[in-house]
Amino acid sequence: MAHDAPSPDTTGTLARRGLMFILSSPSGAGKTTIARMLLEGDPHIRNSVSCTTRAPRPGEVDGRDYHFVSHAQFDRMAEDGEFLEWATVFGQSYGTPKAQVKAGLKEGVDYMFDIDWQGTQQLYQKLERDVVRVFLLPPSIAELRRRLTGRGTDTPEVIHGRMERARSEISHWDGYDYVVVNDDIDRCFEQVQKILHAERLRRARQTGLIGFVRELMQPDD
Ligand code: 5GP
Repeated sequence: MAHDAPSPDTTGTLARRGLMFILSSPSGAGKTTIARMLLEGDPHIRNSVSCTTRAPRPGEVDGRDYHFVSHAQFDRMAEDGEFLEWATVFGQSYGTPKAQVKAGLKEGVDYMFDIDWQGTQQLYQKLERDVVRVFLLPPSIAELRRRLTGRGTDTPEVIHGRMERARSEISHWDGYDYVVVNDDIDRCFEQVQKILHAERLRRARQTGLIGFVRELMQPDD
């Protein structure tokens, strides 16, 4: 007896487990812009909002850009095992809260993580199968210096410090799956988007298709 073959849900998020899309780069490589473009243009990926002990910068909103917490609050959360990973960056603590991400992944939601190499290593060690690691590079050392020079109000020592930190972050590029050079913001965005789209189609992630594929393999009566 012939029966109507079901169609899989290839548009929604429920056909598969969510993935953890990590974007790292030295500051000055355009990561914040790429992350924003990705989040604005794709309803299936959400931002993982980190906790930090550093003070908010002008324009930053608590709960949207970061959860701004005291050192005591951060230490308590770390002790209580509330972070998936945490690290000290430039003398301040940063951590990824566990609860929201774990629940979302099960429901097929993808998360974007703007975290450093230390956090990337920890997430990879814990959740290797869910993690996609993308590293952005600036187009040249001159351009990086230009972007880190700011509005010309910083001292040479401050700029030197930023360049040192950028070099140190770049030295960890070999801990990533993908590397994209940001020489043109639109092209860089397109390449990052392609990585995300291809990773979503990995067979191992598409557990929701198992029933559908079994049906497709049923012999004709
Ligand atoms: P900023 O203070 O400029 O927002 O971030 C400084 C650095 O901390 C950036 O490299 C950023 O990716 C990293 N960072 C932000 N949140 C987290 C986090 O939750 N965990 C880790 N490991 N790094 C983070």
